[in-house]
Amino acid sequence: MTDRSSTDVLVVGGGPAGCAAAIRLAAVGHQVTVLESSTGDAPIGSGDLLVPAAVDELSELGVDIGAVGANPIDGTRLWRGERSVPVRWPHTRAGTSTGAVIRRSALNEALRARAADVGAEVRLGSRATTPSVERGFVRGAAIETTDGSADEIGCRFLIVADGANSRFGRGLGTHRDRRWPYAISANTYVTSGRSDDSWIETVLGPPDADGHPITGHGWVHPIGDGTLNVGVSMLSSYRYVHGVNIIKLLDAFASSVAERWGFDPGERLVEPVRRRTPLGGSVSPAMGPTFLVAGDAAAMANPFNGHGVRAALATGRTAADVLDEALTVGNSTTLQHYPALLEESLGQYHKVGRLTARFLGRPILLRTALTTGIRSEAAMGAALRIATNELRDGETGGAERAYRIAALIARFAPSW
Ligand SMILES: Cc1cc2nc3c(=O)[nH]c(=O)nc-3n(C[C@H](O)[C@H](O)[C@H](O)COP(=O)(O)OP(=O)(O)OC[C@H]3O[C@@H](n4cnc5c(N)ncnc54)[C@H](O)[C@@H]3O)c2cc1C
Repeated sequence: MTDRSSTDVLVVGGGPAGCAAAIRLAAVGHQVTVLESSTGDAPIGSGDLLVPAAVDELSELGVDIGAVGANPIDGTRLWRGERSVPVRWPHTRAGTSTGAVIRRSALNEALRARAADVGAEVRLGSRATTPSVERGFVRGAAIETTDGSADEIGCRFLIVADGANSRFGRGLGTHRDRRWPYAISANTYVTSGRSDDSWIETVLGPPDADGHPITGHGWVHPIGDGTLNVGVSMLSSYRYVHGVNIIKLLDAFASSVAERWGFDPGERLVEPVRRRTPLGGSVSPAMGPTFLVAGDAAAMANPFNGHGVRAALATGRTAADVLDEALTVGNSTTLQHYPALLEESLGQYHKVGRLTARFLGRPILLRTALTTGIRSEAAMGAALRIATNELRDGETGGAERAYRIAALIARFAPSW
């Protein structure tokens, strides 16, 4: 590996979004450097469920998650109160119907190893601090390393993929629209004999301290290594959001599922941390003259459930396609296609998601949706197709019809 002081594409952030872009660009021969501020340790509070479409994205990248210990997952048991409905993952367009749970540290490691294999330079323990800007164009970044040294690297193009807080992105002028919902989550890990289960569990609307169902869900993800990931996620659109302590909500949720999953609710292998994930395209702009923004840095996570790995991998793919063309043709105006491509693939879905989040933020509407939905396997199956963005033309279930009506309303609703 060479230590480059200048590169074609500089990627800030070696998570799913940054690595997906780096792998694709390096694989077709471009010079790519990835800056990753961590030294490879597992981040506290992050996602480890891969829906089948994320598995498809990873296999396209040549990342074999089976080889790094992923636990295959057939679907989710959706719970509401004492009722539960098992729902298999919908098939992806490629025909995949198995998801996976994998420790995020293992996924990141596999992605970074793949990026290095195809020729990208991956610098761990290197934090991009400030962009180098020349006459309005981003031309590189200043770097601080974990051993305290400072460095600088130049580039033709830059990808901002530094995650939900995106300090580097903010330095380039990105901002979150505060009217739009975000997710507040916390999780921990526990030991359990059911770590090899091939089904995850999703509890819809777990109750807050006053007994109101929250606009959100609790989850149990069996990781396959003797542990479970147990967590909760709530949308900021929930009417009583300010009265909810997410760590206490996690404690209460963990106690409510502990017996079923055979773990000690007092045990926490990791101290939970409150995390915020921007959702549904609420951060803009997604590009500048020489940079693109991908993954959580561009708020690409799914507004229906807060999942963002699939969107991070997909937007990394789109960013790579656009930059490949810009580098090949030598014309940076190509970058202007990027926001349009994001809008085309996710714009309507995000808008419907934001509208739904507002609607379900009202306790009375949420209760009605939860009570009627959980009675029917078909309704829950359709709800999962919506939540995983696997709707198909021609499907005619109740939830699909509801989605289409919401899409129609969203076309005319204000842009929240
Ligand atoms: C508690 C919780 C649970 C979740 N569960 C799921 C789930 O089960 N499934 C799912 O799909 N999604 C889940 N998500 C969302 C998911 O984790 C994110 O959407 C996804 O990680 C986004 O990927 P990314 O590459 O955009 O950002 P990240 O994964 O955050 O990667 C960004 C990387 O950039 C690095 N970085 C940051 N700043 C700098 C800098 N200045 N210089 C260099 N490097 C930098 C970081 O160290 C990090 O490695 C969850 C989120 C939370 C908070």
